[in-house]
Amino acid sequence: MKFKLTEEQQEIKRAAREFAEKELTPELALEYDQKEEFPMELYKKAAQLGFTSMRIPCEYGGQGYGVLEDCIVVEELCRVDPGLGVAVSLGNLMIPDVLLKHGTEEQKQKYIPPLAKGEKISAAAFTEPEHGSDITRMDTTAVKSGNEWIINGDKQFITNAPIADIFIILCQTDPNAQPSYRGQSLFLAEKGMQGLEATKLHGKMGIKPCVTGSLSLCDLHVPETNLVGELNRGFYYTLELFDETRMTVAAQAVGIAQGAFEKALAYAKTRKQFGQPLINFQGVSFKLAEMAIKIEAARMLTYKAAWLYDNEKPSPVATSMAKAYASRVAMEVTDDAIQIFGGYGYLADYHVERFHRCAKITEIYEGTSEIQKLTIVNYLKKQP
Ligand SMILES: Cc1cc2nc3c(=O)[nH]c(=O)nc-3n(C[C@H](O)[C@H](O)[C@H](O)COP(=O)(O)OP(=O)(O)OC[C@H]3O[C@@H](n4cnc5c(N)ncnc54)[C@H](O)[C@@H]3O)c2cc1C
Repeated sequence: MKFKLTEEQQEIKRAAREFAEKELTPELALEYDQKEEFPMELYKKAAQLGFTSMRIPCEYGGQGYGVLEDCIVVEELCRVDPGLGVAVSLGNLMIPDVLLKHGTEEQKQKYIPPLAKGEKISAAAFTEPEHGSDITRMDTTAVKSGNEWIINGDKQFITNAPIADIFIILCQTDPNAQPSYRGQSLFLAEKGMQGLEATKLHGKMGIKPCVTGSLSLCDLHVPETNLVGELNRGFYYTLELFDETRMTVAAQAVGIAQGAFEKALAYAKTRKQFGQPLINFQGVSFKLAEMAIKIEAARMLTYKAAWLYDNEKPSPVATSMAKAYASRVAMEVTDDAIQIFGGYGYLADYHVERFHRCAKITEIYEGTSEIQKLTIVNYLKKQP
């Protein structure tokens, strides 16, 4: 792997940085952190400029780049503000990725272009109240009736659920399958369908502009054409999907860490105690040096996983390493940033506490850090 971004990738980075610095203002960040609302206008602006559809092919309204270019954009958005950055980058969450691999041409034509253009919002529903890390069995069922499927169950912690237009839902289609994950399938549903109800979750620790909700599915009828891919292959499609999207979570973490680091560095250069800038104290400067090392290492792991994926050598273990490491780095660096700000770091107006609150989710969603470590250990066990 070349450790230098190409000219085009550097241009994408510059453009994303320029957009983020202009549009994701500190005032907007504070406002939406308090309101806990999705920044729809900002999302549409980002979508118009192509920042939300980097890895969607041009024929479906996207930019036709790879995961690495998407990671670069996500990193730049989250560097400026993690709450707004995550919300904007997850607006067309996962549905294009699944459909591009397993959807019919009709499904791709119908669902992907409006998501690529930012006209619609998507949600992907796997987690249930009783099944989080372990999704090998779903309590949500889909039963065939004529030329429809009838879905019943509850989904928990679903990003965008209260505002989404299109949903993808993991259901148990064969309750007797052994092992149970061989009897799961994915279905598409749309807002307004009878039997689909979303409830907004309030009081999250961070990423507040990225709205989350639960889904209640009560005799939800979907046409048989809404089955995605083959019947009873949903679990496998889901794992494959996470191997792609987890890299963008690692990129969120790198961006969050970078943003907090830059704020701490600038503060350490200007804040004086004992007659000199904080950065003159070795206790502070070594902390900054360690923060810079960790961020660079996290970025390299993330870019490596994305590069492997884009170059037809996808590596789930590289992806898990990137996500587990980058998310830990985001927690540690944002914590150190607050420490460097001292008492001011504890105040919302100085912005670093928000970065710390937002960093935590990267260790939880799309597979907790413990689940990433299981993937890594399973790989290590197979090594000679
Ligand atoms: C803000 C937010 C947004 C989310 N968005 C989505 C979404 O869009 N779609 C969706 O489907 N889900 C979403 N989730 C759900 C998220 O993916 C789950 O919360 C996560 O997978 C963990 O599941 P759980 O919360 O049930 O925890 P549990 O699975 O109950 O785990 C609790 C703890 O036990 C640990 N643990 C569990 N099993 C093991 C094991 N075998 N070995 C070691 N440790 C283990 C976990 O790592 C964790 O620390 C979201 C969650 C949040 C908070």
